[in-house]
Amino acid sequence: MSGDRRNRLYSYRRWSSGLRFGLLLFITTGIAGAIDAPPARQMAITIDDLPFVCTTDHSLETARTITTGLLHWLDHYRIPAIGFVNGNKLFQAGRPAPARADLLRAWLATGLELGNHTFSHTDLHRTDLSAFAEDLRRGEDALRPILAEYGRRLRYFRHPCLHTGRDLPTRQAILDLLAEGGCRVAPVTIDNSEWIFSKAFDRATQRRDHATAARIGEAYLEYMLAKLAYYEQQSRDLLGRDISQVLLLHANRLNARYLGALLERMAARGYRFVPLDDVLPDPAYGLPDTYTGPAGISWLHRWAITRGVAPSFFEGEPRTPDFILKLADVAAE
Ligand SMILES: [Zn+2]
Repeated sequence: MSGDRRNRLYSYRRWSSGLRFGLLLFITTGIAGAIDAPPARQMAITIDDLPFVCTTDHSLETARTITTGLLHWLDHYRIPAIGFVNGNKLFQAGRPAPARADLLRAWLATGLELGNHTFSHTDLHRTDLSAFAEDLRRGEDALRPILAEYGRRLRYFRHPCLHTGRDLPTRQAILDLLAEGGCRVAPVTIDNSEWIFSKAFDRATQRRDHATAARIGEAYLEYMLAKLAYYEQQSRDLLGRDISQVLLLHANRLNARYLGALLERMAARGYRFVPLDDVLPDPAYGLPDTYTGPAGISWLHRWAITRGVAPSFFEGEPRTPDFILKLADVAAE
C-alpha cells in the first residue's frame, strides 16, 4: 500500500469516527430526541465482474462510464475496495483490447486492489475440476502483468456465482491450487440479488426511461439496507455479535450511479469501510464450513448450515420486489 493511499484511508477513518462523534454529540445535547447512535461496524466492499458488466451495451463508452462512476464514489469516500476481474473481458474477437486493460489500470491508479474471478466466469458447479483449474490459472495470467505495473501482486480469488464446489475434495483442490499461487478466497457475508436490479436499470437506461431508472435506484437502496439489517441480525443470532462483514456488488451502471448513496446510508448505520485484509482476521472467518450445496450463499449461512441450525434460522431474508423482477424480465430470484 502506498503512503499516499494509507493517508487517505486514515483520513477516511478520521472522517468516519468524526461522523460518529458528531452523532453522539447531537444526541447528548438532547437535540436528537429518540435517535440512537449506530453501533460501530466494519465492512469490506468487493466488486465483481470487472472491468464492467452491462446486459444491454458492451461499448467502450459504457465501460468507461461505469468505471468512472464507480471510481468517483470509491475515491470520494476513500473506500479501500477490491475488484474481481474476468480476464476474458480484456479481449475482443480473440485479441487483446488495451483500452479495456486501461480500465483496470484506472482502478489500480486509484489505489484499489484487484483479484481474480477466473478468466471466463466459469461456474465450478457446471465444469469439471481440471477445466475450472485451467480457467482459474488463465485468469491469474491475464491479471498478473497489469498488477506488476503497479507493484501489486495477486492475493485474492472470488468464485463465480459463489459456487465453491459440490463435494469437499473439489472444494479443497481449488483451495490448494489458490494457495500454490499465493491466493486466498474472498468470502461474502452480505449476499444479495443486486444483479436483478442492475438488469432492470440497464433496460430502463437503454430506453431512456429516466423516471423508471430512478424508481429502480430508490428500490435498490431500500432493498440493500434491508439486506444489511437481515445479515446483521443473522450475525448476532449465530455469533452473538456484529462480525466484520463483506459486501458483494458488481461493476455495473446501477452502482456507478448509486454507490455513493449506498455508502452514505451504510455509514449512517455505523459502518466503517476497511480492506478485506482487516475483515478476515475476525474469528468468524475461521469457523468450520463444510457447505457443498448447490447455491451461492452467504458465508454466514454456510457457517450456520455447518453448525446444523434449525431451518427457521434462515427465515425473513428480503426478496427482490415483483416490479423489479418484471422490469428485469427475471422469473424469480
Ligand atoms: Zn461474477
